[in-house]
Amino acid sequence: MKDQILSYWDMCDTEGVQMLQRGMNFRLNVNYSVILMSQRSNAPYADRIHDDGITIEYEGHDILKTGPDIDPKTIDQPVKTKSGSITQNGLFVQAVEQFKANSHEPEIIRVYEKILPGIWSEKGFFRLIDYQYINDGNRNVFRFILEETEVEFADREFKENALKPRSRVIPTSVKKTVWERDEGKCVMCGATDELHFDHDLPYSKGGTSISSDNVKILCARHNLSKSDKIE
Ligand SMILES: [Zn+2]
Repeated sequence: MKDQILSYWDMCDTEGVQMLQRGMNFRLNVNYSVILMSQRSNAPYADRIHDDGITIEYEGHDILKTGPDIDPKTIDQPVKTKSGSITQNGLFVQAVEQFKANSHEPEIIRVYEKILPGIWSEKGFFRLIDYQYINDGNRNVFRFILEETEVEFADREFKENALKPRSRVIPTSVKKTVWERDEGKCVMCGATDELHFDHDLPYSKGGTSISSDNVKILCARHNLSKSDKIE
């Protein structure tokens, strides 16, 4: 997964929108959908990245709170609103059904993860391959299954990027620690833009356990000069 660090406004700029207010954005543009996820302890939904580092389980979204007596957290997540229009859950379900019926390629979804307030990490592009509608002990919720894909989006189209090494995911708790320790700056030059979380030993070269000791923040320039040395 990619781990580019972005501010909220960088993220909106990247997507060419003024604001991203919803977590689920089916076909935010003609090429792909966008989701915002969070594994923070106060996150509104139970999103998580599986231990394989390439699968995301993303919870569907609740009905809107339309009155003081309505608690959305006690109501089944719907595919349609009361007035009958399709919800974001419904659009994502439809995409999975069409993919399973072999009538469509899986929907491509760009994923951003909240690290801290105003600090986001771009996870790259995923395929929406499945969903479940399960009882979480309280009510029925959607769990959408996304799998990392080796594509990049450039010049308004998707390109296969077979050379991209599959990297192991850096846990969110580690990112939070590293971000605070490195004070949100490149440890080499102090730059505060185009930052990445950098893992000392790439997964492809035998890197295994990830802790804050072997993760640091680098700017794009220093990230690049480092990969030159490895080659
Ligand atoms: Zn730097």
